[in-house]
Amino acid sequence: MAQAFFGGVHPNDRKAATRAKAIEPLPAPAEVVIPMSMHIGAPCKPLVAKGDQVKLGQRIGEPGGFVSAPIHASVSGTVTAVEPRPSSMGGTVLSVVIANDFQNTLSDEIRPVADPDSLTAEELTEIVKNAGIVGQGGATFPTHVKISSAMGKADYIIINAAECEPYITGDHRTMLERPEQVIKGAMLLAKCFGVDKVYLGIEANKQDAADVLNAQIAALNAPVVVEVLHTRYPQGAEKQLCQAVSGRQVPSGKLPADAGCCIFNLNTTCAIYRAVYEGMPVVSKIVTVSGSGVIEPKNLECPIGTPVANLFDACGGLREDTYKLIMGGPMMGLAQYTADVPVGKGTGCMLAFAGDEERYEPEPQCIRCGKCVGVCPIRLEPVFMYKYLAKGDWENFRDRLHGMDCIECGACTYICPARLPLTHAFRMGKQQVNNARMAAIALAEAEKAQEAKKEA
Ligand code: SF4
Ligand code: SF4
Repeated sequence: MAQAFFGGVHPNDRKAATRAKAIEPLPAPAEVVIPMSMHIGAPCKPLVAKGDQVKLGQRIGEPGGFVSAPIHASVSGTVTAVEPRPSSMGGTVLSVVIANDFQNTLSDEIRPVADPDSLTAEELTEIVKNAGIVGQGGATFPTHVKISSAMGKADYIIINAAECEPYITGDHRTMLERPEQVIKGAMLLAKCFGVDKVYLGIEANKQDAADVLNAQIAALNAPVVVEVLHTRYPQGAEKQLCQAVSGRQVPSGKLPADAGCCIFNLNTTCAIYRAVYEGMPVVSKIVTVSGSGVIEPKNLECPIGTPVANLFDACGGLREDTYKLIMGGPMMGLAQYTADVPVGKGTGCMLAFAGDEERYEPEPQCIRCGKCVGVCPIRLEPVFMYKYLAKGDWENFRDRLHGMDCIECGACTYICPARLPLTHAFRMGKQQVNNARMAAIALAEAEKAQEAKKEA
């Protein structure tokens, strides 16, 4: 068994509802709404306009900068609008709306690589970039940027198959049903980084998937090692996985690459396989639809841009007393006010909750039990971070308590008996710190411009 990381919690994994449910293709909707920002970094610029005909896999969004990723049509049909539409992140985002012609006419841009074994690292990175691959576990960081920035630094490549959030089973089903994609994707990464082995970290509650992968590794004689890890949340967080698999600790404020590790989500690895062996960019997503409000929980594969409401409909609909929708897992996901938002590249789960599951406390009071400190995997002090933020003192939150290191895993909120909204407060606090930083940069630039004007 691999190393353990500090802290963490053991929530009921609630995976039984979908663990045995094979991935079902969802019939493509009549209309897809494709946001021009589904990744960390600059949004894309639309390459199409209302009235244009588009083909499946055609590039419709041009990256807005180096840290960005192109976006492709997930169905063939006619562009009916390029306009702001509701976003799962709140507010609206510029989106391309396509009326599906149900012909699935493939773009000429779809070209599998003739000889994948001959690819150089640079060629693979370019394919990853052109396929619009981003971290599929929800991080949505452009994968070609991750590869480029870790090249020459990382000698330990890890596939993240922990899937530690409760309810979610999409990666588990992918390993059981598509092991060849996983292992061949990992082999491409091994060659790209020039390493002898790629490690795949998987929690012990998915031993059946570990067995299937090991059989595939043997069949392909692949340089991949499956590491079975403790089942403990947040095992799939990058720094925790890095420590658990490699034994290396990522310093505060640094990235896994600074410890010589580079980590790829399991479905990102499959996306790399599809880009190389099938020539296919990211146009679909596997989504676990679950929670007490869902009539028949399932694992569905749908085109990017499918309205979330269609996923719930395919699961028999929602219970009448559904009171909450969450995109993502229950620990780190984002509450949604509507089911009209589309599935994006980072959407791995949609949850609906009904009945009396809500545990809201209108005026929570800390009882100083210290449990939040004991579970924080980053060894932070959530109770004091919260107190500083409650006073609006984000400077001490940032400087004395290292609040910017918080990975927003939700473990402290989960364990808190007083039900303080700790993680929510930290998310807001980090946003405040970032806003202040941006404001200071803008002010400095304005002053510099003013000085230059005076001198001229
Ligand atoms: S949300 Fe932040 S403070 Fe709370 S346990 Fe996770 S890393 Fe620690
Ligand atoms: S777990 Fe909650 S109640 Fe206990 S010390 Fe932390 S914030 Fe206070």
